[in-house]
Amino acid sequence: MRSSQFFMPLLKETPKEAEIVSHRLMLRAGMIRQQSAGIYSWLPLGKRVLDKVCNIVREEQNRAGAIEILMPTIQSADLWRESSRYDDYGKEMLRINDRHGRDMLYGPTNEEMITDIFRSYVKSYKELPLNLYHIQWKFRDEVRPRFGVMRGREFLMKDAYSFDLDFEGAKAAYNRMFVSYLRTFDRLGVKAIPMRADTGPIGGDLSHEFIILADTGESEVFCHRDYMDLPVPGADTDFRNDEQIAAIVDAWTAPYAATDEMHDETAWDAIAADDKLAARGIEVGHIFHFGTKYSGPMGATVQGPDGKQVTVSMGSYGIGPSRVVAAIIEASHDENGIIWPASVAPFDLGIVNMKAGDQAVDTVCEDIYAALTKAGRDVLYDDTDNRAGQKFAAMDLIGLPWQVVVGPRGVASGEVEVKNRKDGSRQAMTPEAAINMLLTHAAA
Ligand code: ATP
Ligand code: MG
Repeated sequence: MRSSQFFMPLLKETPKEAEIVSHRLMLRAGMIRQQSAGIYSWLPLGKRVLDKVCNIVREEQNRAGAIEILMPTIQSADLWRESSRYDDYGKEMLRINDRHGRDMLYGPTNEEMITDIFRSYVKSYKELPLNLYHIQWKFRDEVRPRFGVMRGREFLMKDAYSFDLDFEGAKAAYNRMFVSYLRTFDRLGVKAIPMRADTGPIGGDLSHEFIILADTGESEVFCHRDYMDLPVPGADTDFRNDEQIAAIVDAWTAPYAATDEMHDETAWDAIAADDKLAARGIEVGHIFHFGTKYSGPMGATVQGPDGKQVTVSMGSYGIGPSRVVAAIIEASHDENGIIWPASVAPFDLGIVNMKAGDQAVDTVCEDIYAALTKAGRDVLYDDTDNRAGQKFAAMDLIGLPWQVVVGPRGVASGEVEVKNRKDGSRQAMTPEAAINMLLTHAAA
């Protein structure tokens, strides 16, 4: 992509309304635009990151055996009356009337709808286990929408729902999602720690929030330092092997980790001071087993092996990709701007032409751009006639992992400069060497 043909409205001023760094940087980098309180447009740079996040989430859901569908944003109130949540949900639910006066709503979540789909088609235990997910916009009329897309009213959610014959099956399904989340957040370039979460009236211990540590997080969290270097399960993890998956969950739930609500002072006091991590955190994912809470009242049953009807046991598993984008920035930035993990960067690298219009410089830039683009890299080529200083600042702000700087003096001596955004290191090399290096480092 050539900057001259792209739409990337950078802001010079720091927006006053933005209280936290991710919100400021997303506005300044032209990633999002607020349309109403807690409701945002995603501009090209932001959309590219959001898509990359969703794709990683999708790949890891699929790997764990979940199957993608797409349910609508608008739902009928009647479904929610079946579970009694229409009245219980309160003011967070955006209620709508259609032209026939029917009660509709903008879905804040999809348990009722997925249970309706399930009961309409699945009749036998032989069709289980089943896990269906979608990535769809949700609306919750939050009391205090704030921090940009971190706590929006309209936000994107990946929500998966599992159906099993019994608790044992449901627990195995829960474990698969747990392990899938470890892989997902690792690939997104962040450390998200699974912390025991409140199960409320459902009881049991099958509820975890995945939390990214960041000073601006809304939750107060407590965990053991061991989490910092627990090994993340690899791509060869066998999601059909329940024992292997359960062993990973055991390892990842052994050290102490809890949010404020679940904090146990006695257990905490038993940990050596050096091993304690008391911090603030951002909830980016939540997995939850709720058994027959919806399948019961909504009559989602299957025929069991003995011929009797069994009410299925369910769980739900959420990740908020739009919040994740902001959380990644909270965890990865410096005073000059965003530092994207390579896996979600809007472009793999940028090329800065320090003197657009200078034929020798243009030619070197075009050659590098063509070679890397042809090899499948996403390249942002700043071919505008803005000042060099302005271009450098813009590249640092938008945080692409690598920058290739091409100027007249370097070109005269056959060299360009390659800068690593994260550590700030710069290396001069020939254009060919730069291409080779970026082909190895900037992942396709
Ligand atoms: P919170 O406690 O932050 O309000 P929640 O417990 O209501 O979150 P869930 O219902 O578990 O959230 O939703 C699953 C995921 O959706 C969350 O882990 C989060 O990533 C995302 N999410 C929830 N509410 C919002 C919101 N208002 N804006 C952006 N993302 C959200
Ligand atoms: Mg909430």
